[in-house]
Parts: sequence; structure tokens; C-alpha cells
Amino acid sequence: MRKPLIAGNWKMNGSKELIETFGRAFAEIDLPSPVDVVIHPPFPYLDAARQAFVKTPVGLGAQTLNPLHSGARTGEVSGQMLNEFGVDYVLVGHSERRQLYHESDEQVHERVMAALEAGIKPILCVGETLEERDAGRSEEVVLRQVGYVMARLDSAQRQQMTIAYEPVWAIGTGRTASPAQAQQMMAAIRRYQSGFDRELADALRLLYGGSMNASNAKELLAQQDIDGGLIGGASLKVDDFIAICQSA
Ligand code: PGA
Repeated sequence: MRKPLIAGNWKMNGSKELIETFGRAFAEIDLPSPVDVVIHPPFPYLDAARQAFVKTPVGLGAQTLNPLHSGARTGEVSGQMLNEFGVDYVLVGHSERRQLYHESDEQVHERVMAALEAGIKPILCVGETLEERDAGRSEEVVLRQVGYVMARLDSAQRQQMTIAYEPVWAIGTGRTASPAQAQQMMAAIRRYQSGFDRELADALRLLYGGSMNASNAKELLAQQDIDGGLIGGASLKVDDFIAICQSA
């Protein structure tokens, strides 16, 4: 009932050539079952990606946005600008943004609002650090991050949301959460959502992220509450990324 979403987060990687490689590869393949696919390249490649992906099922994603429409914010990009380039999805609250750029739950919420106002679907990223997991606080941390944003949205806004659970200790480390660990957290997030609205909780897409690759994707995606993946490293290799899309 929930259509899977496979999102590739290129972070500060990639090139114009890689965009073209992806465009050519996706134009030639048939995905076996219905799946939404999106690539989040760095800002300068968005327009090239939009053109390269025209004849493919690949949607366009951005990695962040500034909450303001415009103004004196050197180096920043607004939702309005992303919308002008046909961006469908934007990552918000990725752990690298939370850690390296000190984005708080409040700032994450502001970015979600800016994305919604610009007609772009937010992918809200949440996840606990290793320290928090070892202290037995994973669920508390993740539900706080989810709750801070979701409790401040109305039901029409909540319908536009996707949530990506990415344990920080699994990102870029080669150490994936076990399918059971990932499923357990997804079920907790969905249970939490049903406190707002049962129907919405059933329809909400939950992605797993953190060292997902062509070999472990199938088992993770087979879990009842995992509706897709947010892929970093493995989204830079076209064959691996296609293999993940095919296992969805
Ligand atoms: P990874 O990154 O797949 O390289 O672990 C995932 C992410 O940060 O979104």
C-alpha cells in the first residue's frame, strides 16, 4: 500500500559526468515494481540533473534549504529557488547538518515549514548517536526529533512528510543496523504517529539509512515498516544504486 522510495544522498560528491551516467543508465532500465526514485546531488548540479533525468523515473532532490525566502544569507539557497528548478524532495535534519552545522530541532522544523511552503516534500532525517544507543536512549532521542516537527504540523502538512531513520553510528561506517533493529525503530515511529492520526501513520513512508548497499538492501526493505532507503555511499555507484532500486 505504501509505494517505496529510494533516495540517493550524494552529499558533497559527484560530478556533471556522474549525473549524465545516471541519466543514461536509468533511461535504459525498467524497474520491476512501482518505486519512487530520487537523487539529491549538490546544488550546482540540480539543473543538469533535471535535464539528464527528464526521460527517466528519477526525481530531483536537494540536501538542505534555508528557512528564509530571500535576503542577506551568503551561501544559502531558499525553497523558492529549489522549486524553480523542479526539486521534488529536500532532506532536512540530516545528522551531518545537525552535528557539523549545529541545526537544532527548532531549525529543522523551520526548514520543514519552508519546504512545505515552497511545495517541496521534506524527508525528515532522525537518528541516535552510538553514545545514545549504548545509554539505552535510542527511542527517546528519535521520537523527540520526530515529535518536535510532526507535532507542529497540521494533518495536510504531515501527509507531505517522509521520515528517514538513520542511526548516526551506521552512516558511512559500513556498520548497518540489523533489519530487526531498524524494524523496531520504524515500528516505534509509526506507533507514535498513530497517536496523531491512525490513517496517516499507516500511509507515512519510513526510510532506513546508514550503510545500506546492494547486498543488504533486500533484507532491510523486506521489513514490514521499512518503506525505502536513504542511501549515501552506495548511491554514487550507478550499478549498486540500481540494484537497490530493483530490490525495493
Ligand atoms: P551512507 O549514508 O549510506 O553512506 O551510510 C547515508 C546518509 O547519510 O544518508
